[in-house]
This record gives sequence, C-alpha cells and structure tokens, in this order.
Amino acid sequence: MASSKEEMDHKLTFRKFEDGDYTWGNFGDQIFNEDTSHKCPTYVHRTPPCQGSCPSGEDIRGWLQIVRGIEKPQKEGMSMQEYAFLRSTDANPFPSMMGRVCPAPCQDGCNRNHVEDFVGINAVEQYIGDTAFEQGFKFEAPAKLSGKTVAIIGGGPAGLAAAYQLRRMGHASVIFDDHDELGGMFRYGIPGYRTPRPHLNHEIQRILDMGNIETRMQTRVGKDVSVEQVEKEFDAVLWALGCQSGRGLPVEGGDAPNCVAGVKFLEAFNTGRLQVTADRVVCVGGGDTSIDVVSVARRLGRIEKLNKEEAPEHVIGGYVAHDAAYAASREGAEVTLTSLFPKAEMTAAEHEVHDAQREGVTIKDGVMPIKVILGDDGRATALRMATCEMVDNRPTPVEGTEFDIECDLIVSAIGQGGDLEGLEEFDNGRGLIDADKFYAVPNREGHFVCGDIIRPHLLTTAIGQASIAAESIDYYFNDTEIRKRPKVDVHHFDLLEKLQESGLEPKEYEPGEYWGTDKSEFSVHNFEDRAAQEIIPYDELFLGHFPFTPRLLREEHGPDAEQVLGHFEERMKSFTDEQAIEEAGRCMSCGMCFECDNCVVYCPQDAVFRVKKDESTTGRYVDTDYSKCIGCHICADVCPTGYIDMALGH
Ligand SMILES: Cc1cc2nc3c(=O)[nH]c(=O)nc-3n(C[C@H](O)[C@H](O)[C@H](O)COP(=O)(O)OP(=O)(O)OC[C@H]3O[C@@H](n4cnc5c(N)ncnc54)[C@H](O)[C@@H]3O)c2cc1C
Ligand code: SF4
Ligand code: SF4
Repeated sequence: MASSKEEMDHKLTFRKFEDGDYTWGNFGDQIFNEDTSHKCPTYVHRTPPCQGSCPSGEDIRGWLQIVRGIEKPQKEGMSMQEYAFLRSTDANPFPSMMGRVCPAPCQDGCNRNHVEDFVGINAVEQYIGDTAFEQGFKFEAPAKLSGKTVAIIGGGPAGLAAAYQLRRMGHASVIFDDHDELGGMFRYGIPGYRTPRPHLNHEIQRILDMGNIETRMQTRVGKDVSVEQVEKEFDAVLWALGCQSGRGLPVEGGDAPNCVAGVKFLEAFNTGRLQVTADRVVCVGGGDTSIDVVSVARRLGRIEKLNKEEAPEHVIGGYVAHDAAYAASREGAEVTLTSLFPKAEMTAAEHEVHDAQREGVTIKDGVMPIKVILGDDGRATALRMATCEMVDNRPTPVEGTEFDIECDLIVSAIGQGGDLEGLEEFDNGRGLIDADKFYAVPNREGHFVCGDIIRPHLLTTAIGQASIAAESIDYYFNDTEIRKRPKVDVHHFDLLEKLQESGLEPKEYEPGEYWGTDKSEFSVHNFEDRAAQEIIPYDELFLGHFPFTPRLLREEHGPDAEQVLGHFEERMKSFTDEQAIEEAGRCMSCGMCFECDNCVVYCPQDAVFRVKKDESTTGRYVDTDYSKCIGCHICADVCPTGYIDMALGH
C-alpha cells in the first residue's frame, strides 16, 4: 500500500469536498433551516484498522497517542515511555522483538495509506521496546494468586505470552520446553541479527520476573513426561508446541543426505554448531524461513577443504559441531533462493527480500524444483528447476524450460509441520492440533492450544491466540461458560478504565426516574462504544485535515555483498525520542478524539465545548450542550478522526 517516493512528492492530499461544492445559495439557510435531521452529535469510539488487522490486537492508536503526548500518564512520576510500554504490552509482551521482525499487517491496514503512506508503527514499537530494555521497565503481577497452575507445553512466543497473560489474571504456570533455553523460534529459528539476544533475553526474563512462572527445560512432554502425568499435576494444559519439522522437497531425490530442512539449518546456526556452510547453497522457499536461510548462508560463507565428516548436513543432523575457529577462514559462498511465485508475491516481507539481494543472494522467481540430480555417491549435485505456471491452482512445470542449479547443499524451506511424537492422540491427521474458536482442544476438557501448532503463521498470531486461550482458561477455572467473543476481538481502549485510572469514574447508579443523562453523574453522557463491533474506514475520517508528511524511516546498517561475510550485527537502528514523537504524530487517531478543537472552533452555535480540564480524559475531551445544538453537523464534518456521529435526536 505504501506510495512510491514519486507519488509521495506529487500526490494531492485527500479533500472532503470537490471544487465547486461550496456554491451554496444562502449559507445561513443551509446551516440553520435546511438541515432537518434533528440529530445532534454523539461521540463514538470505533476500532482503528491498524488494530483490527493486528493479530495480537494491540491498542496501537493508544500507544501512538501516548508517544506523541496527547494521552498522558495519570500516575505521578511515570514517564511517557513507560506508559506507552504498559499500553502496548497489554496485548503483546515483546515490543522490542515485534518492532523488528513483525511483517506488520497493521501497517497495510493503516488509514494513513489513503493520505500518503502508512504510519511507521513497527518503528515506534521498536522504540517503545528498546526504551523499556534500556530503562528496565517491569510488569506488575497481582499479589493474590488463584491457586490454579497451568502446564504450558512449549516455551516459544505463544507459551511465554500465555504465561504472561495468565499471571496477570492471578494464575501460576509451569513451562515445559525441550530446548536448553526459552524462546522457541525467536531464538532457534530467527537469527540473532534480527532478534538480538540481549533484547530477547530481557523480554523473556521480564515475564519470568512476574513470579510464579516456573520452567522445566530439556523436558519433552510425550517422551520425558507423559500426558497423564501432566494432567494429574496441573489444573489445565496449554499446548504451544509450534511447528518444529520442516517439509522435505517433494521431488525425486529430495531425500538425498545433503538435502536438509530450513528450520534445522537455522537451529544448527543459532546454537553455534554450524560455523560455515557449503560452497554452493540453493534454498527453495520464498517465505521468512527461506530468507533467513540464504542471509545466514551468505554470512557464514564456506572454507577451503572442509572435512567430509564436517559437511553442513552432518552438523545439521546433530552428529558433529564445527570448531568456532573456522570463522576466521571464511570465504564467500554462492547462494541462490528459488521461489514458486514472482518476487512481488513472495510471502517474505518485501524489505527482507531486498536486503537478501543486496547481500548478494541470487533470486530465481516463478520457478519450481522438479528433480534432485544425484552424484555417484548418492549426494545431490544439482537441483533441476523449471518455470512454474498455475494449472487448476496447482504449480505445474512448463515443458522445455528446465535448467539445473549446481549445488553442494539444498535447503528446503517450503513449510513446517508439527512434531507430535508421543502425542499422537492430539494429531488431527495433518500433524497439527485442532482448536475451537476459544482455543480449547475439542472434546478434551481442560486442554487448550495456541500458536503455530494450530497452523503455522506469524509471531503476532501466536501471541494473539495465547491471549485468548489464557482468557478461556480463566473462564474454565471460574466455572463460567465462555461467552461469545466480540466481532472485533482486540485489546480495546476502555473509557471506563481510563476514567477510573484518572479518578473520574461515574457514581453508582441509583434506580429511579431520570430525565436525560447530561447532568447525571452515574453515566457517561453522549458516548457510545462500538469498538467491539466496528472498524472505522478511511472515508469516515476528514482526511483533508492532514497535511502531506512523508514517513520517517529508521536508520539501517545492512551490509552489501562485499561486507556480508561474518556480518552478524543488527541492521535496524531504533528511533530517538524526537523521531518517535514525530512519527507517532502522523497517526490520525482513527475512531478516537485527538483533541484538535476543530469541532469546538467551527460550531456556529457554541454548542460544542471542551470538558473542564479536571474532568477531562482521552475520549472525554469535548461535549455538547444539546439546548444549543441545531443539528447542523459541521462538527461531524470537520472532525478529522471520525469520532462524531450525528446520532442523538428526536
Ligand atoms: C526461520 C523462521 C523465521 C521466521 N520469521 C518470522 C518473522 O520474521 N516474523 C514473524 O512474525 N514470524 C516469523 N516466523 C514465524 C514465527 O517464528 C512463529 O509463528 C512463532 O514462533 C510461533 O510460536 P509458537 O510459540 O507457536 O512456536 P515455537 O516458536 O516453535 O515454540 C514452540 C516451542 O515448544 C517446544 N516444544 C515442542 N514440542 C514440545 C514438547 N512435546 N515438549 C516440550 N517442548 C516442546 C519447541 O521446542 C519450541 O521451543 C518465522 C519462523 C521461522 C521458522
Ligand atoms: S492513522 Fe493511526 S489510528 Fe489510523 S490506522 Fe493508522 S496508525 Fe491506526
Ligand atoms: S473535532 Fe477534534 S476535538 Fe472535536 S471530537 Fe473530533 S478530534 Fe476531538
């Protein structure tokens, strides 16, 4: 959706009215007599599309308004940065990681795309996470525990996020994981130059520091501990196993010893066992995993005269480990990435594809493997490819277009599946575990599931599911039937909570007869919360309010093909305070008042007024005196955020 540089320089900002629309005969009549709607403004909170398209459901608009200084912390001494951190982690406890590697579906959904370019949500999120890391912000956990303990199987993003949300609800947990360290694919899949380990370790430790979250590492459920033992010891079980096995190449010769899975290649690298790769590497994929494989392969390079026993496939298979000293004699390796789809349709994030090319990876797109060519020793010597076309939705090789890519190592990164060895009773027949819409395992009381083991997707998806699963477990413990999930199922801004936080909560309702509610203290006058039902589209905003402002980019230090060998430093630099505030300032606050005063200034009747300073909070900044309002709807027209509906009336 992002606009090109050229478009950004020339495109006009949206205007609400066309040229000539101002030719009203009598301005006064139009405003005062000809509008017969008899409607008055009401203030309507809706979900912004950034939040609606974030699988974790983060209150993005909320933390952007905090960073830009519109929504202020209520607690004395709390900084803007800490307040923004608490808001963002309400849904997702990993802002530092997400700001770096989430492909940001929120940015695709952002309404600002209809002005010039999306808001740099990812960049501000990284800023929030990195500031929290530098300043050591902590999570609070309720002192009172429920007495219930959940067994969480899998200490990846889903399992950790679930432990965090459960602890916030007062439930303890024990995380089982078969690795040495927590983190799942954060640590064993994604390379450290994308998810820097100091930040990752900090974000994990911050969850464990909440207390009453224990870990049992190097423990595989289904092998070291049985399902029955887990059921006996715990009050509920959450399966967050992820997808640990890579799919092999489904072509003749695909089981050659030097054909390996992408996830295993990356695990060998991330645990430090794989120090160099082969002379010529070809990776089949097009998604995130394949990009990581080829980027790592370019960084590792090869060494002259590697012992046969130390060939990469033996290291990846876990039989040997390379000597760390090999790093000193690295030379560049030839690395090719092949993709079924054209470059523009590859599932990896666009900038990751560009980075890989800049680092010297050759990309062959729109092609498919048809055969692995084997040498006399049974090892692959080349991968035969052909141009790919879709026939009845199936990739099909075009005859006569075959060509060979000579290689010493083939890495298959065409998808992952679950490893349910010892847990076959949960297998839905496709190597995955079924979930109902509350993330409970069907017909298995007390068992819940979240993350990639339902269907491999993104970090943010696994974390969002963990939050809903934790809520379902809470209902289960409280013997409450799980109620319907809202249509827009995200972590909403809650005006009542905001009023409580500001010491402005409405008084208890006393039953009785009341005329109107504008002066009553038990209700919030003319506010409606439709956030759980509606996402506000761009055409309900007054986009003409927003001047053309190019997106601020993070500084990047990506290596080129000459510099990439042995380059394991992080590529993306965090925003400074000033940069974060400036970029957050581009947010249009879709669906929530951002205190611009337009409605107050333009109301011809002085009916719209600012709420008194000591009674005002976010979402409660303006109000209307209905005895003065004539229903002209100017306030609704000039409200940039779409917060005003002409709705109340008679
Ligand atoms: C190479 C790679 C790159 C990726 N890049 C991105 C990216 O850039 N952006 C993005 O959003 N997503 C990315 N993803 C996807 C993302 O990593 C996953 O969606 C996410 O990690 C899923 O989280 P999870 O907790 O469900 O599973 P995992 O992260 O896989 O964690 C599951 C954990 O459970 C453990 N476990 C499994 N079975 C058992 C058992 N029986 N007993 C005990 N422990 C067990 C595993 O060892 C593992 O530690 C990438 C994935 C890969 C593989
Ligand atoms: S402008 Fe702001 S609130 Fe609106 S969709 Fe974009 S980030 Fe979200
Ligand atoms: S016009 Fe401005 S002050 Fe009035 S409701 Fe809309 S955003 Fe708030």
